[in-house]
Amino acid sequence: MTLAAATAIAAPDAGADAAARFAQGEHCMDLAANDPQAALKLAAQQQTAPQPDLALHLRICAGYAHERAGRSEQALAAYEAAVTEARSRSLQRHLALALTLRGEQNAVRGLYTSAIADLKEAYTLEHEHGTHAREVYVLNAIANLYADRNVRDYDNALQYYRKTLEAHEQRGDLQGQATAHFNIGSTLESQEKLDEALKTMQRAVELDRKRGAPLDVADDEKAVAVVLSKLGRHNDALRMLADVERLYAKGAAPDSIAAFRLSRGIALKRAGRYAQALPDIDAARAYFLAQENLRFLEKIHDERAQVLAALGDWREAFTARGEYEKVHQKLQDQLLDERTARLRVQFDSEQQKRQNELLERENAAAQRELQYAASVRNWQLAALVLSLAGIAALAVLMTRQVKLARTMRDLALTDELTRLPNRRHFLALAEAALSDAKRHGTPMTLAGLDIDFFKKVNDTYGHAAGDVLLQRVAHALRGAVRPSDAVGRMGGEEFSALLRGADLEQARTVAERMRAAVQSLDCSDISPDLRPTISIGLSQIVDTSERLDALCKRADDALYRAKELGRNCVVG
Ligand code: GH3
Ligand code: MG
Ligand code: MG
Repeated sequence: MTLAAATAIAAPDAGADAAARFAQGEHCMDLAANDPQAALKLAAQQQTAPQPDLALHLRICAGYAHERAGRSEQALAAYEAAVTEARSRSLQRHLALALTLRGEQNAVRGLYTSAIADLKEAYTLEHEHGTHAREVYVLNAIANLYADRNVRDYDNALQYYRKTLEAHEQRGDLQGQATAHFNIGSTLESQEKLDEALKTMQRAVELDRKRGAPLDVADDEKAVAVVLSKLGRHNDALRMLADVERLYAKGAAPDSIAAFRLSRGIALKRAGRYAQALPDIDAARAYFLAQENLRFLEKIHDERAQVLAALGDWREAFTARGEYEKVHQKLQDQLLDERTARLRVQFDSEQQKRQNELLERENAAAQRELQYAASVRNWQLAALVLSLAGIAALAVLMTRQVKLARTMRDLALTDELTRLPNRRHFLALAEAALSDAKRHGTPMTLAGLDIDFFKKVNDTYGHAAGDVLLQRVAHALRGAVRPSDAVGRMGGEEFSALLRGADLEQARTVAERMRAAVQSLDCSDISPDLRPTISIGLSQIVDTSERLDALCKRADDALYRAKELGRNCVVG
């Protein structure tokens, strides 16, 4: 389901006018999905739209049009500003929409904790004020995020996908059901529960057949074939892929066909038919090279190197390996660039937020004066107003309490203060990364980090300043590592970082970058004398018998030595 499809249905609103305006905004969203240029033109009317809710909706729409046209920076900037404005104007449905879009953008950028917080807030709002279709859309987005290969919280992903399935079943929406089965199957596949995955995906095939959607059937069967191939049922897999090829011939998009060639190439490789695998993989390579699609190319170069090596063509295999390394590095760099750009956007919208707050404060002062005048004129009326305001405030407080409880339960994986993974979540990520590293024989290094003399910060500037510093350090650490690395808050002023694929030497460079990032934090707004530093201890996995607790212990010991050596340094 696309966002446009989910938003196309206008929901009833407080007033018919508001509903009509909302529908107008949604029309723009719908247009943006298919014809971004036309949507931008429509959104340009925002300058003349007199109603603030419609103007905001059209600005969100302009962001979405930018996103669909591949200008993600502009899209994100629009969403950031829209979230701030919708909040300050209490436009809940617009807030839900902007949060959903920002959440998805952040997820793409690997900023998972921010993404999940946005999407969960959007979900609560849609549940209370939105449409059913949008609520399901957000649920699906949350599930996709949990299923992301860097998050890998598959149990949660499955729980959310199943909720979407239930919703589609209640409505008798066959396409929705098929999509949910497909997603559940893919998640089970990621959990290596291949038999279960197979059954679920076959259900998607049945449903799409019933719908009479041959291209969707082909997509499902392709996924089934991949699972069959993983199960070692090579003949079944290849037979099914032949069927997919036949269905795709009826007019599949070129990128579906190229992705299909890659899947068949891999299936042939698994079956040991290397000479046949190569032309498929080469065809996919040619297509995705022209498209400059790095995600696919990374996989293709990797598979190609394996096939060439199996064919004994070591020279070519070596070249392919080099191509893989290059693309891999480029992807990492790109993600870093995007993160830096995001910081800039964040900074801009911070400025805007401050200006809004200033306006709000001025408003509030004017309001107070009016109230005062009223109470002088008629204290009885003022008393009545106050008691009504008291009741309203109580109601707001109660709903807020309920929301808070929900958010807290939902964010059980995230540290409230820093928004980093908490200790429990981090250790789970580390456990998974450790077994991955052992399986693939790749290096991995764990870093223990501790803020130096933090107690003195609390004692000198107060606990609140200490909290702010913790947030800044968390942000600096997160910004200094790759998106595929994890940083968690282990408690108090202690953090850990998981450096996937890094040996001790590479980890030292990263740790040094983290140390320098903290040292160069600007804390002059707290005090010109405040110059925070951290100490870091590193431990690399030694062999396949390595256990996580031993790895943590060695990082701790190294951290202790860093403290003894005078702090603000890296040991390991
Ligand atoms: P060292 O350089 O040896 O690490 O010294 P230190 O002062 O950083 O270490 P110590 O363990 O003595 O002090 C840690 C302090 O962190 C004590 C505790 O009050 C404070 N702290 C723990 N959690 C929080 C928090 O969430 N917020 C704030 N503001 N302070 C916290
Ligand atoms: Mg400590
Ligand atoms: Mg400390």
